[in-house]
Formats: sequence, structure tokens, C-alpha cells
Amino acid sequence: MCEPHCDAASCAIKTGSAVSGKRPRPLALSCRKALQDGKDIAVDLFKDRLAWDSDAGTITDGPARYVLIRADALMGLFHGLAPADRPAAFAAFQYAVARFGGRSARRYHQSRHAGDPDVLALVAAGAPQLGWGSWSVDRSGEAIAITVENSPFAAGFGDAGHGVCAPVAGMLQAAASIAFGRGMVAHERCCAAAGAKACRFELVPVPAT
Ligand SMILES: [Zn+2]
Repeated sequence: MCEPHCDAASCAIKTGSAVSGKRPRPLALSCRKALQDGKDIAVDLFKDRLAWDSDAGTITDGPARYVLIRADALMGLFHGLAPADRPAAFAAFQYAVARFGGRSARRYHQSRHAGDPDVLALVAAGAPQLGWGSWSVDRSGEAIAITVENSPFAAGFGDAGHGVCAPVAGMLQAAASIAFGRGMVAHERCCAAAGAKACRFELVPVPAT
């Protein structure tokens, strides 16, 4: 189930209601554009940057190494844990992606040029090319909501009754923290593994201590 403040209109639980927000246009090789905040932005295709070396058995993006693994095999790690042990495991997964995925986001940020979209928009546009579902970003003032359709993590886990897309949350908070220059944290408010039509995340500033 979705959290109480994520109503059926916004998270599209299994009622047949539509997901609110803008759906990103699929990236096309010819135009290299994505949709963000209702306007087109030019992005490089992430998959074009990946170096596939079949002899060495490596897939890399600069210094970062990637690996393809079945979604159900990856999420089977968490599925195999006792329910009481899953929150800590998902928290560690989110932290790891924020830490190491954040290194990639920082490289993208440092290679930006004037007029380029911010890192959060770049990550949202590039994630589908990694098979991380179809992402859309809605910004309204300070509020930032991200909808992810076809999350591989939800699909790989199956029916959980709770959110399972910790890597998405980790990557979102890493990218947003770099883009906005302050600590941000992502919360998954709805998850397809908990009966929602799409996964939905909120980004909020880290509370001051
Ligand atoms: Zn999810």
C-alpha cells in the first residue's frame, strides 16, 4: 500500500487511475532529447558512453564498472532475507548506491557546460538506458517528485507489501544533492511491489541538525 499522504490520484494504485506527472519521451538516437519540467533538454546517450569489452569481460563508463544481472537474481538477495532483516539491507543498498553512484553523478556534474541540464535531470534521462525503468521528474517550487514506471527492482522482487526500490532512492538523493548543492534525501512513497501502478519518490532536504 502507498503511504497515507500519497493518494490514489497521485500514485495510481491499482484502481486504473492514471499516474500524474509528465512521462519522459523515450530517448531517440536521432534527437537526443528528454522531457524535463515540460521542456526539451539535450542529453548525451548514457549507453553510448559505456565501453563493452567482450574479450576482457568488462562494461565500463570511465573508471566505473558495470555488470548486468537478472533483476530477480539481484532482488532475490532481499527476498531471501527474513522480513525483519530487510529494512537494514535496503538501507545499506540505498546508501551504497548514493555513495558510489554519486561518484558518477559528480563526474557528470563536473563535465557539464553552460546551459546543460542539471545532474538530476541527466540521471533521470539516463536511468532508462540502464534498464532502471522510465523516470519522470515533477518540480513544483521546493517539492520534487519522481515517478518511475517499470522499476526492475519492484519487478525483480515481486509482491512485497512495501517499497523495494532502494537503489532508485539512493541515486536520486545523490544526484539531487549535487544538483542543488545541499543534502537531499529520497523517500519511496509508493512502490509497484506494494500494489502501486508506478513507484513514486519524494526528494526533501536533509533536516538541519
Ligand atoms: Zn518501487
